[in-house]
Amino acid sequence: FLELKNIKKSFGDGDSHVEVLKDISLQVQKGEFCVLLGPSGSGKSTLLNIIGGIDNADSGEISIMGESMSNLKEKQLTNYRRKHLGYVFQMYNLIPNLTVRENIEVGAYLSDKPLNVDELLKVLGLYEHQEKIPNQLSGGQQQRCSIGRAIVKNPDILLCDEPTGALDYSTSKEILKLIETVNNTYNNTIVMVTHNDAIKNMADRVVLLRDGKIRKNYLNEEKIAAMDLEW
Ligand code: ATP
Ligand code: MG
Repeated sequence: FLELKNIKKSFGDGDSHVEVLKDISLQVQKGEFCVLLGPSGSGKSTLLNIIGGIDNADSGEISIMGESMSNLKEKQLTNYRRKHLGYVFQMYNLIPNLTVRENIEVGAYLSDKPLNVDELLKVLGLYEHQEKIPNQLSGGQQQRCSIGRAIVKNPDILLCDEPTGALDYSTSKEILKLIETVNNTYNNTIVMVTHNDAIKNMADRVVLLRDGKIRKNYLNEEKIAAMDLEW
């Protein structure tokens, strides 16, 4: 479904040259909840941005649903991102003068298969808060809203970069649970970067990045629950 082949990426020239991704190959199946872990600077965000078409790899191949992304021209790539990819960041980046409902509706722009907003608001636990604006919400509620904005177009792949990075532990767990619920409800493929170990019980696949390479790639919940996530 999502396939990465021999992805390489470096930054800088001369003395400041760093090879961030050395040779990354990975397959993620449709509907899979895949989590990327690894120390700070290991290239997790870089990899996610390459998958999302925000950044380019130096070499290697990415294909989504059998279509190679390198064959897409700039404009097609933009369309592709709009239609097929959703992004959730650590910072919520909601539009301050729009309501919760309006912020979510913005995400459906140009989608040909948007989700029902009322149902989505209920899944997100925001139905009662839909007329509020972002600064009337808690951090967790704002992140729920930004997940709604990313998911409302019903993207094939939802990319999340430390979606709980700005939240306390128990709110983080709630948000991860919500992402799991979204995964189960809408069957979107999810690739998520997180440091939160509550993920052990939720992910279908855990990939450990270190020194530019994939060091571990675990499938299956039981294994994940039992594994030592130290790197
Ligand atoms: P963290 O857990 O802290 O978010 P990360 O695993 O997401 O870390 P990346 O942000 O992917 O790490 O960065 C990997 C390496 O690439 C770092 O050494 C970083 O300094 C470098 N890097 C990332 N983006 C750029 C850039 N645009 N220009 C130069 N170097 C970059
Ligand atoms: Mg990062």
